[in-house]
Formats: sequence, C-alpha cells, structure tokens
Amino acid sequence: MDRITKPNLNNARKRTKDNSNTVTYNAKTEIKNIGEGKKYLIQTHGCQANEADTEVIRGLLENQGFIATTVIEEADLVLINTCAIRENAENKVFGELGRLKSFKRVNPDLVIAVSGCMPQEEEVVERIMKKYPHVDLVFGTHNVNRMIEYLDYVLREKKRLIEVYSKEGDIVEKLPQVRENRFKAWVNIMFGCDEFCTYCIVPYTRGKERSRHKDYIISEVKELIKQGYKEITLLGQNVNSYGLDFSEEKYSFAQLLADLAELDIPRIKFTTSHPKDFSDEIIDVIARYDNIMPFIHLPVQSGSNNVLKKMNRKYTKEQYLDLVDRIYKKIPNISLTTDIIVGFPTETHEDFLETLDLVEKARFEGSYTFIYSPRKGTPAAAYENNIPAEEAKQRLYILNDLVNQGYARGNHRFLHQTVKVLVEGYSKTQKDVLSGYTENNKLVNFKGDDRLIGQIIDVYIEEAKTWSLDGKIVNEDKEH
Ligand code: SAM
Ligand code: SF4
Repeated sequence: MDRITKPNLNNARKRTKDNSNTVTYNAKTEIKNIGEGKKYLIQTHGCQANEADTEVIRGLLENQGFIATTVIEEADLVLINTCAIRENAENKVFGELGRLKSFKRVNPDLVIAVSGCMPQEEEVVERIMKKYPHVDLVFGTHNVNRMIEYLDYVLREKKRLIEVYSKEGDIVEKLPQVRENRFKAWVNIMFGCDEFCTYCIVPYTRGKERSRHKDYIISEVKELIKQGYKEITLLGQNVNSYGLDFSEEKYSFAQLLADLAELDIPRIKFTTSHPKDFSDEIIDVIARYDNIMPFIHLPVQSGSNNVLKKMNRKYTKEQYLDLVDRIYKKIPNISLTTDIIVGFPTETHEDFLETLDLVEKARFEGSYTFIYSPRKGTPAAAYENNIPAEEAKQRLYILNDLVNQGYARGNHRFLHQTVKVLVEGYSKTQKDVLSGYTENNKLVNFKGDDRLIGQIIDVYIEEAKTWSLDGKIVNEDKEH
C-alpha cells in the first residue's frame, strides 16, 4: 500500500516555546546494505542549507553501499533536493521531474525521489501525486534522517511513499556526511527561521529556529581540522540569533565565533546574517581574529523604509547604514555583499531610488538580486502586486548595473597587492590555470601545479576584472 503523509503550511507557521531536544543518530541499527551494487545521483537546488542536507543524504546512502554516479542512465536512484524560494526554482524541478519520466520508462526499477523545501508545500505534494506518478519517494526537510527506512520500504514493497512533516522534530546529531569538498566544509550551527519576512517561505519549509549545542559544533570543527580542512562556513538562516533559543544557558553567536576562532582552523566564514541581530560584540570578535574572514553577506532586501516595513525586516535604511558604518570603522578591510529584491508589492519608483542610494552608500562588493516572486501561504502573497513584470525587470537591470560596478571596485582594490588564496583546483574556463578564493572571497586565477590544491598560498594580483582577479604565485613553497 502507498504510504502518504502530507504537509500543512498552516501548522508549519505555528511556533511553540518548547526547547528542541537533541538525539543522536545510530548508524548501526540502520545498516541494511540496501544500496549494495546500486548507484545514486543527486541534483541539489537552492541555498547552502540544501547543499549541507545533500551531504547528509550522501552519507546515509553510502553507509548502505550506494555509490555516486553522474551518469543518469547508470543510476538506480535519482534524488532531487529542491528549493522553494522562488517560482522559477520550482518550475525547474517540475521540468526535471517531467524529463525523468522517460528514464523510468527505460528502467522501471529506477527509484525517483524528491526531498527538500518543495515537498513542505501541500500544493507541491498534491501536484506530484496527480501529475508525476513516476515519483516513488517524497520527504521533506524535517525527516532526512529517516530516508533509509523510506527507501527500504519503496525498494521492498515497490510502492510509493510520501512522508512530509509540517513541524520540525528533534535536532539529530552524528548523522553521517559525505562532503563535496575536501578543504572547505559547511557546518550547520542552527536550523529553521523565526523571522517571517512577509515574502519568504523559509520559516514554513524549515520550521522553528533551533540552535545546535556548542559542544557538537566545536567537536565537529575539531574533527574537520584533524581531517585537514582549511575553511569552515557556519550555516544558519540568521546566524546572529544563534543561541537565543537556549533556555538554560546563555551562549551567543559572538561567543561561538570566538571559541571556534581559538581552534587551529585557518578560515572561518558564516552565512547568513540578519542585520537586526548583528551586535557590536560580533563586529568586535570578527575584528579581533585573523582567522575570521573579512567578508560578510548582509542581506538588506530594500533601501526603502516603506518596503522594509512591509517586508517585516525590523530595521530602517538608516539603521542598516549605521550598522555598515560601524562595521567599516572596526574592520576597514571588510568586503560586504547583500541580497536585494525588486518589484516587491507597492514598491514605487521612489522606493527603488532609495535602494539604489543605499547600494552606493553601503559600498557593496556584490549582491544577489531578485525579482519578487509571490509564495503561496506567505503574507505578501495576499498583497496586491501592482508592479508590471516589465517594470520589475527594468529595475533589476538598473540595479544590476550598479551592483556590477561594486563587484569591479571590490576586485580593483586588490590590484598590485599580495593576497592569500585557498587553492581549490583547476579553473573551469582555462586549462592549466588554478583558481581559489581570497580572504575577502574574491576569485583569483593563476598558473601553478596541482600540488598546490588545498593549500593557502600568496598570490600577487596583476590584473583586476569585474568577476575575478589574475595573479602570479609569490613563493610556491610557502604554505600557511
Ligand atoms: N536567511 C537569509 C536572509 O535572511 O537573508 C537568506 C534567505 S533566502 C534563502 C535568500 C534570499 O532569497 C533572500 O535574502 C531574499 O533576497 C531572496 N528571497 C526570499 N524570498 C523571496 C521571494 N519570495 N521572492 C524573491 N526573492 C526572495
Ligand atoms: Fe526568509 Fe527572512 Fe528568514 Fe531570511 S530571515 S530565511 S529572508 S524569513
């Protein structure tokens, strides 16, 4: 019999004061070797939270004997880990699911699975049930840890299983992970979001804000150091509010950053910061430690106070610029980037000009820019959307022009300087050219051999372009 548990966005909206429990995953009880002789392929959409979830899914699968493949014809399992943030992200997934139908026809034993944020929306689940009968398994963001049990059922019973919880459960520690990168690691420090920005689906798809206990985070980072990792990026939808949900102990993001910076890890980054919780204490900690990178992604969303209020962002343009000022004063070398939405319902031309003004004043060195996309179930979806699509597009083009000047300026300031680069591998576009990122998160290309991959080296910058820097190695034998 098909097993079906559907989500409900109304239930997902509710918040309780209860603290989240932490439980430990027991890999041994789960080993069923259901992947012996089988191959899997995962397609990941969306933000770093999804990338981190994919690393857990890979860990769970490989524990069962599954082997990764990039060739779809070879795969016994294809899983799409989805993103619900904008309509076009969802359309891509539906397109992909349509395409998978023909592979299932050729190989009826192929298991097709959908996970991540999209299944958290009841409409998506209904649509998959009606229009995509070749999808065998659907689970959401709150039950990744149970996927082996689900997969076992689908393989044994040859039935469809859809199980999506509307509410977050316990924090599950010690889940296996297979990380994508050998030198840079994502480290979740918290899950969920309680901000409820009026345009955003994340608080519904990822549940209540809940922080991992510091002991688990610190021991994970110590383990990464042992394995030779050079860079960690601390992940959360709003990392600045880390620890605010602890009822028994007081421990903040600033304290966590400082404790991690005392460890022997060369590079610490974090994302994403919400401006309203960015304390002076956090600025001081970033300024104090050389291994906390001088790079902050600080989404502003709009420069208009009217729009910010309607978005429920809880700060004004002036407060944002004041925060940016305090950051520049204490960390003069910092690179700031942001996220901006244009065409939010009721955004006037004057509101848009306020955004352009803020972009200039904040001296951003990059931004993700988006046209507002209504998300069913969020408050803004009920606002009258009075901005014609063409007008929203025009605003995006104008904004992108300005943002691109910031990218170029941000790169240009490193011309004729020596920067430290964590070497990632060969450049995607040029053979025998290595590439990597600087402390300020600038992409650098330079000639060198593959023994340098995974090392942090000095590179002298000879040319600054809009999207990247070109340079030459200063001293090949030097590792930091
Ligand atoms: N938690 C982060 C934050 O608060 O900035 C990131 C959330 S989201 C994964 C990344 C970005 O997507 C947001 O900063 C916002 O600019 C954009 N976004 C979210 N909902 C959107 C929507 N409905 N339409 C267009 N852009 C959206
Ligand atoms: Fe969405 Fe706002 Fe939460 Fe970011 S802070 S995830 S934009 S609700």
